[in-house]
Amino acid sequence: MAAGPCSVENQDQTLETAKAVKSYGGTLLRGGAFKPRTSPYDFQGLGRNGLELLRQARAATGLPVVTEVLSPQDVDMVAEVADVLQIGARNAQNVPLLAAAAASGKTILLKRGISSYIDEWLLAAEYILVHGNNKVILCERGIRTFEHACRNTLDVSAVAVAKKETHLPVFVDPSHAAGRYDMVIPLARAAVAAGADGLLVEVHPNPAIALSDGGQQLKPKQFGQLMAEVRPIVEVMGRRMADA
Ligand code: PEP
Ligand code: MN
Repeated sequence: MAAGPCSVENQDQTLETAKAVKSYGGTLLRGGAFKPRTSPYDFQGLGRNGLELLRQARAATGLPVVTEVLSPQDVDMVAEVADVLQIGARNAQNVPLLAAAAASGKTILLKRGISSYIDEWLLAAEYILVHGNNKVILCERGIRTFEHACRNTLDVSAVAVAKKETHLPVFVDPSHAAGRYDMVIPLARAAVAAGADGLLVEVHPNPAIALSDGGQQLKPKQFGQLMAEVRPIVEVMGRRMADA
């Protein structure tokens, strides 16, 4: 269970969220320092300073960290702090970035592109594998369809197909699929029932003042509720939650 803020914003927000994630049983801390925002006028992330806050949060909680890398030049800097490098939906088929991230030797969490076919997503993963790095996690995060009640449409079939056609772990990010906090828990439940190996969930101490994705972030207590609702489904699937 990976959880944490969309963006690393400041020390208090990062530490408070990390501690809450840990206390509710999360096992991997997420948080963006380099943010691929749709608008150039929106908060772009704290960059290197954000990495330092993630380093502190890991030291305080013992949680390993997943964070996004946006460009090949940044891979070494991000890999110094990250336990898992995230490649985001907007960069899902950025071949030089896939190659550079692979070369770091770190585990790579590869999001599915916003409009990628499943086979394009799996071939993007192959770009990491052919560079000699077999530590790849696939992550379905919703795709663009005609439906706009949610930000994206969670493609549950992608989980089933990826599980059948690859040997790789498959995560689901219900937060970016939903785009609204009140749909995150149902999508998380569906993901686990479809066979997902992990979830990536956005959590913020005060989503109303978040610098990015405020509408979809869960408050810590709601994250606790997600954990409680997901756990029995994990067990029905014959699996168990990872220990911290
Ligand atoms: C994120 O996880 O913060 C993010 C930007 O996700 P995506 O690449 O799926 O939009
Ligand atoms: Mn986000």
